[in-house]
Amino acid sequence: MVDIVVRTVNLKKYFESRTTRGKRIVRAVDGVNITVRRGETLGIVGESGSGKSTLGRLVLRLYRPTSGKVFFEEIDITGLPEKKLRPLRRKMQLIPQDPYASFNPLQNIGDALAEPLLVHGIATDKEDAKERVMRMLERVGLVPAEEFYERKPYLLSGGQLQRAAIARAMLLEPILVVADEPTSSLDVSIRASILDLLREFKARLNQSMIFITHDLATAKLVSDTIAVMYLGKIVEYGPASRVLKNPYHPYTAALLTAIPKIRGKTVVKRMVELRGEIPDPSEPPTGCRLHPRCPFADEKCSKREPPLVEVEKGHYVACHYPLT
Ligand code: ADP
Ligand code: MG
Repeated sequence: MVDIVVRTVNLKKYFESRTTRGKRIVRAVDGVNITVRRGETLGIVGESGSGKSTLGRLVLRLYRPTSGKVFFEEIDITGLPEKKLRPLRRKMQLIPQDPYASFNPLQNIGDALAEPLLVHGIATDKEDAKERVMRMLERVGLVPAEEFYERKPYLLSGGQLQRAAIARAMLLEPILVVADEPTSSLDVSIRASILDLLREFKARLNQSMIFITHDLATAKLVSDTIAVMYLGKIVEYGPASRVLKNPYHPYTAALLTAIPKIRGKTVVKRMVELRGEIPDPSEPPTGCRLHPRCPFADEKCSKREPPLVEVEKGHYVACHYPLT
């Protein structure tokens, strides 16, 4: 068994578009290195627009990178053609943010779940596929299974449909799951049960997970390791407990400051409030990309980009003036 399930090396994805003012290039992911070991959950956090979803899609090779490399179980999949990717696709699955968008509205839930089993040759025939789907529907709590099997997606609630999306992914017994804000479109009251379900599968199948969220409080619940992203770059990376208890980057501290529950207990080492909004990613600031918003920035920050350096064992930060 390969211990490192996913690894990226200086991974970049630039989106190019034409506007009336000429060519616009968004550096959605701009030189990212991550490593995810078997059984590990890496939480990727950051404000909307920081490049989290793009990173998730690059890792799954749903996007082709602009440059850099992606390794899956130490196989270089960066430029692998679709035909060669196909047998690997089964092993890496996406749980999307909006389950309604990921189901064909005309197809019933049972057929939607059975289809990948047949495509990937996991089920021997239709009957076998149906049996597996029924068992899975029960396991994720969509009961009576016979009833949910026949239902069209629009007859399910958001929470039920997210359970169906999880079921569809888990039927393939992936070793890597990329969950892209899997609870943010759902009612607060059912979020915990969806996280529990993901955790249950993860433990049973010894899966690795990349859990994308804009919410540090959610990341805290599920992550072993946390990567904090800002405008296409990782600004802080390390063991979840360390990053959350002892953040070195003002951006991480600001995300923590913004969580009322955490702020209320004054467990934030240092309260940090950022100025303004996330800037246009096609014109990122010079030097440290956070500098126009950062209360600690000086001239050096506007000129020189801080490298990601190890400040404690396994804990990295990209800041000229890390918090002490
Ligand atoms: P996040 O998931 O953190 O909100 P995204 O990865 O969705 O961030 O987006 C990062 C940046 O890349 C954003 O500025 C977004 O507008 C841009 N972007 C994402 N996908 C595309 C695309 N397919 N084409 C052009 N720009 C994109
Ligand atoms: Mg996103």
